[in-house]
Amino acid sequence: MLDTTLRDGAQARGISFSVEDKLKILSALDDLGVSYVEAGNPGHNPKDLEFFKRAASVGLKNARLMAFGSTRRRGISVGEDKNALSLLEAGTEGVCIVGKSWDFHVTDIINAAPDENLAMIGETVGFFTRHGKEVIFEAEHFFDGYRDNPDYALATLKAAEDAGAGCLCLCDTNGGAFPDEISIIIKKITTSFATPVAIHCHNDCGMADANTVIAVCSGASQVQGTFNGFGERCGNARLSTVIPNLQLKKNYSCIPDEKMRNLTTTALLISEIANDGIGDGSPYVGKNAFAHKGGMHADGVEKDERSFEHVNPDAVGNKRQILTSEYSGRTSVLSKTRKLGLPLSKDSPETERIVNRLKELEHQGYQFEAADGSFALVILKQLGKYKPFFELKNYRVLGEQPYEDGKSASALIKIIVDGKTEVTAAEGDGPVNALDKALRKALEVFYPKLMEVHLTDYKVRVLDEKSATASKVRVLIESADGTESWTTVGVSRDIIEASWLALVDSIEYKLLKDGID
Ligand SMILES: [Zn+2]
Repeated sequence: MLDTTLRDGAQARGISFSVEDKLKILSALDDLGVSYVEAGNPGHNPKDLEFFKRAASVGLKNARLMAFGSTRRRGISVGEDKNALSLLEAGTEGVCIVGKSWDFHVTDIINAAPDENLAMIGETVGFFTRHGKEVIFEAEHFFDGYRDNPDYALATLKAAEDAGAGCLCLCDTNGGAFPDEISIIIKKITTSFATPVAIHCHNDCGMADANTVIAVCSGASQVQGTFNGFGERCGNARLSTVIPNLQLKKNYSCIPDEKMRNLTTTALLISEIANDGIGDGSPYVGKNAFAHKGGMHADGVEKDERSFEHVNPDAVGNKRQILTSEYSGRTSVLSKTRKLGLPLSKDSPETERIVNRLKELEHQGYQFEAADGSFALVILKQLGKYKPFFELKNYRVLGEQPYEDGKSASALIKIIVDGKTEVTAAEGDGPVNALDKALRKALEVFYPKLMEVHLTDYKVRVLDEKSATASKVRVLIESADGTESWTTVGVSRDIIEASWLALVDSIEYKLLKDGID
C-alpha cells in the first residue's frame, strides 16, 4: 500500500498543504499502518525539501518515506541533473522515479528518441540503486502505451528492472482504462517479470477503485492511491475504499487488522487538514455510508444489520445512523430513545406523542434527519425530561456600516437564569455570529462548559411554500465540543429567528447531554 496524498493528492485543484499539514498526514498514515508514503517532489518544490528534512522528527513506525522525481533530463548524466540531486538530498530510504512508457509521449511530447528514453530510465534507476535507495519505477501512461506499442512499453519496464528497480508500477495516468483490460495486462506483466508489480489508477472514468482491486486480484502486489481520492482532475484511486475492499472482502492484507477501525477517523482527519470534505456518500467512511432512512430499511437493520448493510460499520470505525423522518416514524424514535437511555415500547402513549409532535413539526418545515440534537430535545420535551436552562427576555440585532472585517453586526441580549438577569452585547461577522457570541457570553457566566462549544457549520435553506406570501427558512447549525458534534434546526419566516431557535437548541443539547451522559 503506497499513499500518495502528499504528492499526487497535492496536485488536486484547491488542495495546498503546508509543511505542518504534511507532517500531520504522514503521522496519521503511519499510525494506520500504511507501508509506503510518497510525500513530495523535492526537485520541483523547495517546501517539500524542508518537509523531508523535518520528517525524521515524526519517528515513523510503519511507513517507508519515498521522495518522487522523474528520470534524468535529456542530454546530461544523472549526476548533473539537479532534480536527481535534490532527491538524494531528501534523504529518504526510497525514491519513486516516473518515466515515460508510451512511445508517443517520448517522441512527440518530450522530443526524445525511443532508445534515449530507455537509457534515461536505466541510468536514473541505476543511479539511485547504487546510492542504496529502494526504487519504485512508475511507468507513466503504461496502459495507453501498451495499447499502442506493447513492445516498447515492455522495454521500458525491462530497462528499469535491469537497473535494479524493486517494483514496477503501472500507471493509468489518463484514467481511461477499464477493469477487463487492466486485468489482462496485469496478468501478462506479472507472469513475464520477476519484479513485483504495482498499480496506480486515476478516476477519469470513475473506474480507479475497481481497476485497482481487479489489478490486485490479477497479480499486482502493491497499490498506489490517495487516502481520500484527492488527485489531478477526477482524482486517484481512493485508499479508504480500496483498503477495506481488499482486506475485508478479498482477504488481502493491507494494514494491520486492528487498525481497520481507524479508517474513518483517518479519512476525516485528512479531509479536515485538506479542508476538502470526503463526501457524505463515500463508501465505508462517508457520513451516509451506514445511514438508513426508509422505514423498511430502518426497521430491517434494527432487526438484523445484515438486512441492509454489506459490512458492520464498526469494522471501519464508522457509525450506523437511523435517520429521522416521517417515513421511518416509530423505528427511529425507538432507536433514539434507547440511545438516550429512555427505552420506550412501540405502542406506548409516549411513543405516540413523540411521533405526532414530529409530524407536526415536519409539517411546519422542520426536518430532523440531520438534526440529531434537536430531535433528542423534542423527545425529552415530550417525556417531561426537559427544563429550560434560561429565559430569554429579549434580543436585538443590528447591522453595521461601514463594514469592518469580522464585525459587520452587533447583538444585544437579555436573559434570566435562576432569577438573575444578565445583559450582554457582542460584535460578530454577520448577525447570526453576533447573536451566537452574545448568547454564549451571557450563558458562560452560569455554564462554563459552554466555552468548549463552537459552531462548525451553518446552512440555510429557503422552503418553497406555495400557499404563503413570505417563504420560510430552515437553518441547520452544526456544533462541536471536541468529543462530539451535533446538529440542530430552526424554522421561521425570519432568518434571524430560525437561527436563534437552532442556536438555543444547540446550547440546550450540550447542557442536557453533559447531564445525561
Ligand atoms: Zn498519478
